[in-house]
Amino acid sequence: MTRPVYVTQPYLPPLDEFLPYLQTIWDNGILTNGGPFHQQFERALCEYLDVEHLALFANGTLALVTALQALRITGEVITTPYSFAATAHSLHWNGIKPVFVDICPETLNLDPAKIEAAITPQTTAIMPVHCYGRPCDVDAIERLADNYNLRVIYDAAHAFGVRTERGSILRHGDLSVLSFHATKVFNTFEGGAIVCPDAKTKQRIDHLKNFGFVDEVTVVAPGINGKMSEVNAAFGMLQLRHIDKALARRREIDERYRELLCDVPGIQCLDKRPATFSNHAYFPILVSGPYPLSRDALYQLFREHGIYARRYFYPLISDFPMYRGLPSAGRSNLPVAADAASRVLCLPIFPALGDHDIERIARIIADCQ
Ligand SMILES: *Cc1c(COP(=O)(O)O)cnc(C)c1O
Repeated sequence: MTRPVYVTQPYLPPLDEFLPYLQTIWDNGILTNGGPFHQQFERALCEYLDVEHLALFANGTLALVTALQALRITGEVITTPYSFAATAHSLHWNGIKPVFVDICPETLNLDPAKIEAAITPQTTAIMPVHCYGRPCDVDAIERLADNYNLRVIYDAAHAFGVRTERGSILRHGDLSVLSFHATKVFNTFEGGAIVCPDAKTKQRIDHLKNFGFVDEVTVVAPGINGKMSEVNAAFGMLQLRHIDKALARRREIDERYRELLCDVPGIQCLDKRPATFSNHAYFPILVSGPYPLSRDALYQLFREHGIYARRYFYPLISDFPMYRGLPSAGRSNLPVAADAASRVLCLPIFPALGDHDIERIARIIADCQ
């Protein structure tokens, strides 16, 4: 029996490299509340990601919830149903009504051409997702936001390190939110961040993630506890030393899958992007007509071989019981998203995945011909 292969495996550097960081924390006795590693990690991330300001969080979901509060978003927010639950849940936690808009068949990101029809007098913002770490049409979204005076908060949970010819993808919109969860490209066990363009917004976010405290006796907002601990920040500093190597290996795996799968009838890979335009966080395939198995049958076949591919993103968020009653959640409003959700399968991709496993996975797909 070969060992199971999961869709992802968290990147962990050798343990002995982490021990000196822990020793430092033990020596100075500062465990959280914006300690030295927290400050160091914020500066190092700004530099690595090429952004102006960044506020660390205990996880990406608290960062999304806080991003909406920082901009005082209310009413209705336009978003994608083709994402992880936290995208819409962050709106729900703020008493905001999500309005689902369909996605583009090529990018699987929010379709800018369909946004305008969903705007009402209650609309205050757009929350797109750079799905699988592949950039949204940021220019079209920005034009709409400018025309209708809407704010844009990117759920950039998948987009760590993604750059286009114009620099970091995290520089677009009013705010971008990252996740450093164990399953993501860059992890701090649990963690997240808000990227923002100016110091004043960063300060408001810092207050909101610390109960609204400005100083010992002044509380300016009903803030949450969203702080990242020193252990997580220290681990992030160590991960930064390994991230380029990890991203390079992901790129190789992506290329190998494409070589092995591009000629299989009914198996479609998403368009290849220039090297930095994707961080190869995921390797989705779309299963269609000519392929002899349904997506779910292929998913099951993989499981029988000990390979745990995942159906990201099925079911759609708009099909969850707390959202499916919304007018925008209807199937007829979201045909492209519904089709993608029924055909997508994300194959294992992570730095430790060996060539032998890639070939075994591709053979399982191809041998069904
Ligand atoms: C992982 C993820 C989140 C939530 O991040 P956590 O750090 O797990 O709270 C939000 N949005 C998307 C699209 C995600 O994939």
